[in-house]
Amino acid sequence: MSLIVMKFGGTSLADLERIRHAARHVKREVDAGHQVAVIVSAMAGTTNQLVKWCEEASALHDAREYDAVVSTGEQVSAGLMAIVLQDMGISARSFTGWQVPVRTSDVHGAARIQSIESDDLRSRLSEGQVCVITGFQGISSLNRITTLGRGGSDTSAVAVAAALGADRCDIYTDVDGVYTTDPRIAPRAQRLSRISFEEMLEMASLGAKVLQTRSVELAMAKGVRLVVRSSFDDPDAPQVAPDGSNSGVPGTLVCDEDEIVEQQIVSGVTLAKSEAKITIRSVKDRPGVAAAVFGALADEQIVVDMIVQNVSDDGRQTDITFTVPDAEYDRAMNAITSDRERFEYDTITGAKGGAKISVIGVGMRSHAGVAASMFRALSEKGINIQLITTSEIKTSVLIAEEYAELAVRALHTYYGLDREEEG
Ligand code: ADP
Ligand code: ASP
Ligand code: MG
Repeated sequence: MSLIVMKFGGTSLADLERIRHAARHVKREVDAGHQVAVIVSAMAGTTNQLVKWCEEASALHDAREYDAVVSTGEQVSAGLMAIVLQDMGISARSFTGWQVPVRTSDVHGAARIQSIESDDLRSRLSEGQVCVITGFQGISSLNRITTLGRGGSDTSAVAVAAALGADRCDIYTDVDGVYTTDPRIAPRAQRLSRISFEEMLEMASLGAKVLQTRSVELAMAKGVRLVVRSSFDDPDAPQVAPDGSNSGVPGTLVCDEDEIVEQQIVSGVTLAKSEAKITIRSVKDRPGVAAAVFGALADEQIVVDMIVQNVSDDGRQTDITFTVPDAEYDRAMNAITSDRERFEYDTITGAKGGAKISVIGVGMRSHAGVAASMFRALSEKGINIQLITTSEIKTSVLIAEEYAELAVRALHTYYGLDREEEG
């Protein structure tokens, strides 16, 4: 007997029919004698609607009330899932974040889970009850409802799995695993039977929204066995990987690097749109300038991504370029321009609408030339590179958004990741 955490995303719970289908996956595990905790997202589209209402109610809405509103979608799906399970003859009850409770920091809209009270869940699970828990939310030390950031139910699921010491955390979604790139962009993307935590972490943080970045971080830190699989599969089909591979269940196993036999040099290509670029020209080239610029942005809670600083010609002045999400562009510009005397720059320019394309693979540690071939592949398509950043296992470039999909497909083909055409 195992303890399994099963998480269902919004598309998998889009209507009652889909909730019933998801519940049949739960029933299969219960019938096999496993203890099951279920984490649910809001029904597809619900969270977007709730966010929109907050924005329409007031552009400068109270972040605590935003959380009170946007957390409600998960409560509906948890209750409905429990009702449907009961209807199938399974003992089940729903829990909201505060009922568990899932304790978090008090950063509303981007709270981090600090602890999960698991005694009650444990005793219910051991009695055979299915605990259906709302994802995406918790409660702060000030007794306010918090949310974990968009896509946060993945993190809830991993955190619950870690707290319960679950044997597996299955993330059920609308694709049947993690692919070499978003299969909606490159139809010839291939499903990976396994991916290392490190690569998955890079892929998630660089735009593959199939798992929230924090969930991968947490699974890696806590050693949670994480599987990404399809909720649309036949719940009664045999529980083996379609290609006969090894993870034990259908889908992609996210695991330690040493559990992967065949490593590719490049495992995946990701795309993140809506990246704005800002260049500050002729700032003083002396210690403390970068600290001041990025300190001003940090004070505004603006997350900066790519950063490039040029070597100055005369040793006195330099240019700094960085990217922020489009949504933060105006605030970032304001943070710098409102304190112009302090930074002593000449001009500041910027534009929204960039796309960051990244190639990722642990094999890049030991193989030279991956970045060079990336630039070659893009130049062959006439795509201009605006910025470049690298780390040990990834290379990212910023390009114009209009070429984003073309670039992803070109790189996917270039690195030999395309699936063979059938027939
Ligand atoms: P859920 O509602 O189940 O949380 P999401 O929409 O958050 O689902 O994530 C699933 C989506 O992630 C897929 O529909 C797919 O388009 C997208 N995606 C992006 N990159 C990848 C990738 N490398 N592998 C699989 N899916 C990806
Ligand atoms: N419902 C939340 C969102 O749409 C959380 C999630 O789906 O993971 O972001
Ligand atoms: Mg998601």
